[in-house]
Amino acid sequence: MIRFALVCANGHEFESWFASNESYGFQIANKLVSCPFCNGTEIAKAVMAPAVARADRAPSIKPVEAPKQNVALLGEADRGLREMARELNRKIVAATVDVGTEFAREARRIHDGEAPERPIRGQTSAEEARALLDEGVAIMPMPAPPEDLG
Ligand SMILES: [Zn+2]
Repeated sequence: MIRFALVCANGHEFESWFASNESYGFQIANKLVSCPFCNGTEIAKAVMAPAVARADRAPSIKPVEAPKQNVALLGEADRGLREMARELNRKIVAATVDVGTEFAREARRIHDGEAPERPIRGQTSAEEARALLDEGVAIMPMPAPPEDLG
């Protein structure tokens, strides 16, 4: 497995694991890798900035705790399920507005009637997701196509 630092067309940086350089090339060429922030599929390897240059650039960015992924091992007979997950993911992406890491805050504002009701998606920690559910905010995890894990 090789880990690459990637960047999308919108400048979001993230990391993903690939079986090999060839696997990376194939997945990028076939748009199987999407940005976890905006779901964009125009992905390229990020040029790693030297640590010194990064330090003054992002003093206020808190590292986001990587959420644990629920994964399943499916046999070849179940590949239809993988397609369904991919399709469901596509439909949710098409029907929602990406609010990124503002998800928890925005979901609460909508729940409390402080923001217009609309379908949104984004990222939140497992802890925050649990808190939202406890507060009665009807969120749901998004099914992730296997290529999106990473
Ligand atoms: Zn992006």
